[in-house]
Amino acid sequence: MEATANALAEQAATEIARVGADPDALEQLRVRYLGRKGEVTLLFKQLAQVGSAERPRLGKLLNAVKVDLEAALAAAIAEAKQGAGRVLAHTDITVPGRRPALGRLHPITQTALEIERIFSRLGFETVEGPEIELDHYNFEALNIPKDHPSRDMQDTFYISEDVVLRTHTSPIQVRVMEKRRPPIQIIAPGKAYRCDSDVTHTPMFHQVEGLMVGDDISFGDLKGILTIFVQQMFGPDTAIRFRPSFFPFTEPSAEVDIACVMCRGRGCRVCSHTGWLEILGSGMVDPEVFRMVGYDPEQVSGFAFGMGIERIAMLKFGIDDLRLFFDNDLRFLSQF
Ligand SMILES: [Zn+2]
Repeated sequence: MEATANALAEQAATEIARVGADPDALEQLRVRYLGRKGEVTLLFKQLAQVGSAERPRLGKLLNAVKVDLEAALAAAIAEAKQGAGRVLAHTDITVPGRRPALGRLHPITQTALEIERIFSRLGFETVEGPEIELDHYNFEALNIPKDHPSRDMQDTFYISEDVVLRTHTSPIQVRVMEKRRPPIQIIAPGKAYRCDSDVTHTPMFHQVEGLMVGDDISFGDLKGILTIFVQQMFGPDTAIRFRPSFFPFTEPSAEVDIACVMCRGRGCRVCSHTGWLEILGSGMVDPEVFRMVGYDPEQVSGFAFGMGIERIAMLKFGIDDLRLFFDNDLRFLSQF
């Protein structure tokens, strides 16, 4: 019995150490050794059968085993409770949760999507093209001759003699016309690049180009489509005017102004006291551009237009410094 008692004490100590700070497991151990049918309790019952000479010594031994075991279990349980308390002490469960920061679309992206939505309702398909472009598509095919000022080294990022970062989204028109036959009705939003940086210019900016080509497309169609666009973008009462202009790839060409969104046409600093703001360039596709893609200018006609998305966003949201769009300041960006 003495050996059994010693073995039991050793086994119990090992198991208490093994379960560690798990209160349920510790309680199970208590029942197993010290409960009414526990292993230590059973040894006490067997004591009655031991001879009277041995009984006092074994009784003392069993008692010591029992007391030690109780003490070890009590200590382990106390330790387990204190451990749980320690975790809670460092966790204030009454503190309100932190909301994760939600992202949102950049104002430029929002504006581009709005422009796409308006033209999509008018039947225009959205297409894309490469930002690294061949000189041919960026200039030559758009009737921009070698000596045109916009080919100056100061304006264009040249990668090699024949390869540039596109200076406008117009080359996409040429790529589409090369692949398809009319009727064509597309808009092409995207990034464009020029060597330019001040309050109203950034080296990278966004444009939307539009093109409509068919059997009998007239300047009246151009005016109609762009008037609907302006009214849906800036409100149905927005006054609009077409001003004669020049672009190498359209003839005749017109710049489109809207009544100043700041002063509603009365004249202010933003519109240089003219009451008007230029928002886009447009015109009838030059016959030379059609010839370059293999269309017969006698058979088809069409119009094209292009606008800066930053410009539209600035007017729509009343922002006066272009660079705010690219500073990545969340205090600015989270307002949209
Ligand atoms: Zn104004």
